[in-house]
Formats: sequence, structure tokens, C-alpha cells
Amino acid sequence: MHFVETFRELQDEAAEWRRYLHQNPELGYGVHNTASFVAEKLASFGINHIETGIAETGIVALIHGEGGDGPAIGLRADMDALPVREASNKPWSSQTLGRMHACGHDGHTAMLLGAAKYLAKTRNFKGSVALIFQPAEEDGLGGQRMVEEGIMDRFEIGQVFGMHNAPGLEVGKFAICDGPAAAALDEFDIVVKGRGGHAASPHLTIDPVVIGAQIIVGLQTLISRGTDPLESLVVSVTKLEAGTAYNIIPEYVQISGTVRSLKSELRDYAERQIRKCAEGIAQGYGAEIEFKHRRLEPSMVNHKEATHMAIKAACRLVGSESVNDKKRPSMGAEDFAYMLQARPGSYINLGNGQTAALHNPAYDFNDEALPYGIGYWVTLVETALPV
Ligand SMILES: [Zn+2]
Ligand SMILES: [Zn+2]
Repeated sequence: MHFVETFRELQDEAAEWRRYLHQNPELGYGVHNTASFVAEKLASFGINHIETGIAETGIVALIHGEGGDGPAIGLRADMDALPVREASNKPWSSQTLGRMHACGHDGHTAMLLGAAKYLAKTRNFKGSVALIFQPAEEDGLGGQRMVEEGIMDRFEIGQVFGMHNAPGLEVGKFAICDGPAAAALDEFDIVVKGRGGHAASPHLTIDPVVIGAQIIVGLQTLISRGTDPLESLVVSVTKLEAGTAYNIIPEYVQISGTVRSLKSELRDYAERQIRKCAEGIAQGYGAEIEFKHRRLEPSMVNHKEATHMAIKAACRLVGSESVNDKKRPSMGAEDFAYMLQARPGSYINLGNGQTAALHNPAYDFNDEALPYGIGYWVTLVETALPV
């Protein structure tokens, strides 16, 4: 059993790494300096199995336990920053104008490095740990690419775990939920094709503006009248394009929007019903539609057994009163979803205290959270792969 005090010894060193990374933020797949820093540190801890250049700049490193053979457990951190102009006023502020670690991936990287240092020294587990450092979490689907490049098979990863800091949650507290934890993200375009003409002679046209308006109103009932009120689904119309002049009824109208869902049945339902609703309304008025629906990211689903393991580890570290195991899912998207599609696992939130929100220019990762994150990773490994 561990107490967080064990990991406080690593806090100063991890804070130094974290602040160095914070001063030197890089974007997307271009995290070259960050990746070299990570690889150098890993080597200095005596880890000799380090593979770089996965998904361009991603890294996987293996630490073998001294407790004998067994499966590998994957621990994932993200390394990329955001195109945000920093306003945190911290002495370790970004040295590159217009770029900053506004999502705390500097902290995630430092915590996984801290855990790597500890685990490489103690090796008090069975099997091995695969440390996954991924690029391009924010918009490039780096997690998906690492999975496509075969890391799960190559490193024989049986289960995979992720962690993200959470502003607003007290330092030293954790939050997690079983099942869907972040939403799937889709986009749609509906083109309503009518017949254009003079605005003074509407009877000679098929007016796509009026039909488009009916479709937008129709879409509002897909959820309120069509799905279980206790389930989560969002359909938002966010773009509308129509017409060029006061006296012309246009040929077409384009309606675009986004769909967020937690369950695949609802994702399928939304795609099917948006099309059906638009087609039905358009046909009633003699118009036609063209429909495009793009599935961008899957929902992130925590697996039951792995989530129990994560809760057990967090409770060992901080006590059950500091672990909320019924966290509400987020309707945002997270590309760790692809790793959880490839292997069972779970994603946990770590308290960052009362700081500015994620992606806000005043945000900064809270270094007080470092020993908790490092302690969680180590405890998770020793709980999931006991000697
Ligand atoms: Zn982010
Ligand atoms: Zn993030």
C-alpha cells in the first residue's frame, strides 16, 4: 500500500520538467523537442526499450517488472500544446508567442515521466509497463495513429489507461465513471434543392428557405420526442447558408451542424433520423435534399473491470472519500477513445484545484497535483500487476 507522501519526493524534480515543457510548447505532430526531452529522461532512468517516431513523434517505452512474466499495461500521456496566447503571468510562461500548454499536457507528460522513474527503480510488479507518450491529441488524432501503427500488438498491451487534469476538482481528488465518459463527435450537411425565381412570384418557385426553416424546426423534435429523456444526445444546427438578394428566391439552402452522442445506438439514430426528417419535409414541398454525415471521433467508453481497477488504485492512494466513481460524462470528445476501442481500459480525472479552465489563456497545470498523478500511475501498475 502506498501513501501519496512516497511520491512527494519526486514533486520538485517533476515540477522542473513540467515547467521546462511549459516554457517550450509544441503543437500537434510537431512535438520534436518535447519527444527528445522525454526519450532522454527515459534513458537516464535506465529504461533501455524505447521506441521513438511512432505516429511521427510518439514514443512507447517498456519497463519490465521483477515479478516475472505477465501482460503489459499501457499508461498514456499526451504531449501537445495549443495555439493560445498565454496570459498566466507565471515565471515559466511560454517562450513562444501564440502557443501554450493550456490543457495541462505538460503536467501529464511530467507525471508519466515521474512514474517511469519510480517504476524503473522499484520494478515491483509482474509483466511490463508500456509508457505511451502521444502527439496530436488536440486535433490531429495522434492516439488513433499510434493504434493504427500497431502499438497495442507490438508491445503486447493488454489494458490501457489514461488520465486528464480537471480544473474545479480539488487537488488530491479523482473522478471517474464506468461506461461512456466522453462523447462521439459527428458533423452533418443538408443541402435543400428547390427551384429559384422572383421573390414576387413565389408560386412559380419551390422555396428552399421556407423548407429549410421547417427542417431546422423538425430537427428539434428528434431528441425531445424521439429518444429516452434520460439518455444524452445533442443535435445542434450551427451554420446556415442561403440566398444572395432581397428579390430572389434561391435555388438551394445549406444547413450544417454537429451531433454529440454517448451511445452508438443514439449515434446511429441521429444519423438516420436527421436524414429522414430532412427528406420527408423536403419531399412534402416538392424539393430534394443532399445529405452528408461525417463520423469524426468515437465516444470514449471506460470498461467495467478496468474502471474498477482504476478506482481501487485511486482509493489506495487517497482513500475512497477522495474518489468520485460516479462522474458525469462529458459531451466533449477525447482521442483516447481510439485506444479504448483497441483494448479494455479506463480514463480518470485528476483534481487541478481552482484554476482557470482548460484551453483558457490564464490556465496553468497545478504542480501540487504531480505527486497524486505519479502516485496514481504507480499504484495502478502495482494493483493491476501484483507480484
Ligand atoms: Zn485540450
Ligand atoms: Zn487535454
